[in-house]
Amino acid sequence: MTTSSAAPGAPCIISVAITGSLPRKKDNPAVPVTVAEQVESTHAAYEAGATLVHLHVRNDDESPSSAPERFAQVLDGIRRHCPLIITQVSTGGRSGAGRERGGMLHLRPDMASLASGSVNFPNRVYDNPPELVDWLAGEMLAYGVKPEIEAFDLSMIFQAVALQQAGRIAGPLHVQFVMGIKNAMPVDREVFEFYVRTLHRLAPAATWTGAGIGREQLTLARWSLELGGHCRTGLEDNVRLDRATLAPSNAALVRQVAQLCEQAGRPVATPQQARALLRLAPVPEHRSALQLQAEHAAAHA
Ligand code: ZN
Repeated sequence: MTTSSAAPGAPCIISVAITGSLPRKKDNPAVPVTVAEQVESTHAAYEAGATLVHLHVRNDDESPSSAPERFAQVLDGIRRHCPLIITQVSTGGRSGAGRERGGMLHLRPDMASLASGSVNFPNRVYDNPPELVDWLAGEMLAYGVKPEIEAFDLSMIFQAVALQQAGRIAGPLHVQFVMGIKNAMPVDREVFEFYVRTLHRLAPAATWTGAGIGREQLTLARWSLELGGHCRTGLEDNVRLDRATLAPSNAALVRQVAQLCEQAGRPVATPQQARALLRLAPVPEHRSALQLQAEHAAAHA
C-alpha cells in the first residue's frame, strides 16, 4: 500500500492507555487505580518510550469516575514527573453520562478522546448522539484541547472530517482506528487498509493510530507500523503480555511495542517529535490543573 501518512522510517508515537474503565485489580493487579499508582505507572511507561498517556480515573473502590477533581490530581502528578508527555483524557461513555463526560475539559489536557458516532459494545450501545459529539467538540475547541477521534466504524471518519470542515475541530485530524471490540468492527486487514486510505483521501494531513483490543493489540501495532501510523498499548485494552502471561506493568506493554518499532525500522518518537507530529505546543504551558479546577468550581458555584 502506498497511502501511508508517514514516510518509511518516520518516528512512531506510542500511546499508553494505563487504566481504562473496565479492567480491575482482580484481572491484573498491575492496573493503576489510585492517583499515586496512575502517576507512577505513567512515569514508568514514559521511560519505556510512551509519549502520550490516555487517562480514565477511578474511585478508590475501582469503579469508573468522571470527577474533574480526580483528573486534576492525576494531571498535575503526571506533569510533575513527565512534563513533556502528551496528556489525553477520555470522554468515553463508560465513565459518565451526557455532558458529564466532558466535565474535565476545562483542565486543559493536551488532548481528549472524541467518539464521532455510535456503535454496539459487548453489552450495550455506546451512544454518541450528534448533539453530544458537537458539544464535546465545542468544549475542546474552547479550551484548546486537541481531539483524538475514536473511529469504531467507517462513518466516524466521515463525521470527523465533517466536523473539521464545519470549523468544530481545529488543525489536522488525529484519528484512532479501534478494532476488536465485541459487536463492533472486528480485526480485519482489508477494512483497516480501507480506513487508512479513506482518511488519507479525505484529510491528507491527518495522523492516525491503530488500537486493537485484547490479544489483537499487537496485531494492530504491527499493521500500524507497517502502514505509517502510530501505536497504542496499555492495560486498558489488554492485560496480557501473551496468552499465558499477565502484563506486569504498562511499561512492559510499552517495551513490547518499542521492540516492534525497532523490528519495523520505525524509531520510537521522542516527546518533542510526538508533539511536532500532532501539531501540539513544543512545551505545554502547564497551568496547574488543580488551580484551574478551583477557578472553574468558583465560577460555577
Ligand atoms: Zn479509554
